[in-house]
Amino acid sequence: MSVFFNSYYKDLVPYTPGEQPQGREYIKLNTNESPFPPAPAVIEAVNAKEAELLRLYSDPTLMPLKKALAERYDVSPENVFVCNGSDEALNFGFMSWGEDGIRFADITYGFYKVFTALHHIREEIIPLAEDFSIRPEDYMDAGCAVIIANPNAPTGQTISLADIAAICESNREHAVMIDEAYVDFGGQSAIPLTKKYKNLLVVQTFSKSRSLAGARVGYAIGDEALIADLETIKYSTNPYNVNRISMAAAIAAVKSADYYRKNCRTIMKNREYTTEELRKLGFTCADSSANFVFAAHPEKDGGELYRQLKENGILVRHFEGGRIGQYNRITIGTAEQMETFISTVSRLL
Ligand SMILES: *Cc1c(COP(=O)(O)O)cnc(C)c1O
Repeated sequence: MSVFFNSYYKDLVPYTPGEQPQGREYIKLNTNESPFPPAPAVIEAVNAKEAELLRLYSDPTLMPLKKALAERYDVSPENVFVCNGSDEALNFGFMSWGEDGIRFADITYGFYKVFTALHHIREEIIPLAEDFSIRPEDYMDAGCAVIIANPNAPTGQTISLADIAAICESNREHAVMIDEAYVDFGGQSAIPLTKKYKNLLVVQTFSKSRSLAGARVGYAIGDEALIADLETIKYSTNPYNVNRISMAAAIAAVKSADYYRKNCRTIMKNREYTTEELRKLGFTCADSSANFVFAAHPEKDGGELYRQLKENGILVRHFEGGRIGQYNRITIGTAEQMETFISTVSRLL
């Protein structure tokens, strides 16, 4: 840290992204990316013509992508915010609605804590139940904004749409953000509820189910007034937040729904296989609705398993310490990758 660093930020502990190893080839099951390439139409959309047009600024309105998403989710373009990865929508949401504080789970997406620290927002951290399930009643009448990842990360567990509706109903004076980064792997989206609840913002991403983590595109859907708040922050930060090539890729991805649905089904099938095999090996592994599973073994230290897997060419995600220190989060890859993972784990036990 330099001596010039603004003291407002001096206690900030930044987010630690999962490893992106260069060099050695790993079976990479650590950052919840898709093992499948983007749809053929996406590869075609990222073409030389778009590259030539890079001399121009990108479209700050992002209207063609807003329109494609609006059509896909049966809302109006005014209900859609498009951003540079869904992390950006979350960041802007915290800035927009965090004045009275934000309530979220003790075990959830690690970025929420970074955003509260970054913006000096009061956080209300509510422990998940013993089995890592989300107790909906913990989010009723919060007296502040609420954010819930559904399915939750890194646990993969969900709460029902009825519970989300009740949470929105009981927090009429504050925003409720539902982070649906993993909803396409068997979850149920709260997007239809945004028509009824003016305080509900649903955030999704192209990074996981649509194989576009490197393109950095996310979006949020909610009432026009909420979207206008996010636009105000965006135009006060970086009006050209999504580049031209990423927008072209994302539009083609929205139009390739069948291709991605098929990939999601394959990943769900591989997830059931992985869960079953881990349980046979003695792991605690709750049912997951995401593209990862979260597992711990009663006789094998979680950190040690992580390190030994890495030595054997397999990367998973380990979160040091606390309630989840014995767990590893394993991204679901191809059938072949998961078979290699299971046989390596059983050898290491
Ligand atoms: C991956 C992830 C995101 C962010 O993804 P982007 O790549 O920024 O779109 C947001 N929330 C959760 C829970 C995630 O796991």
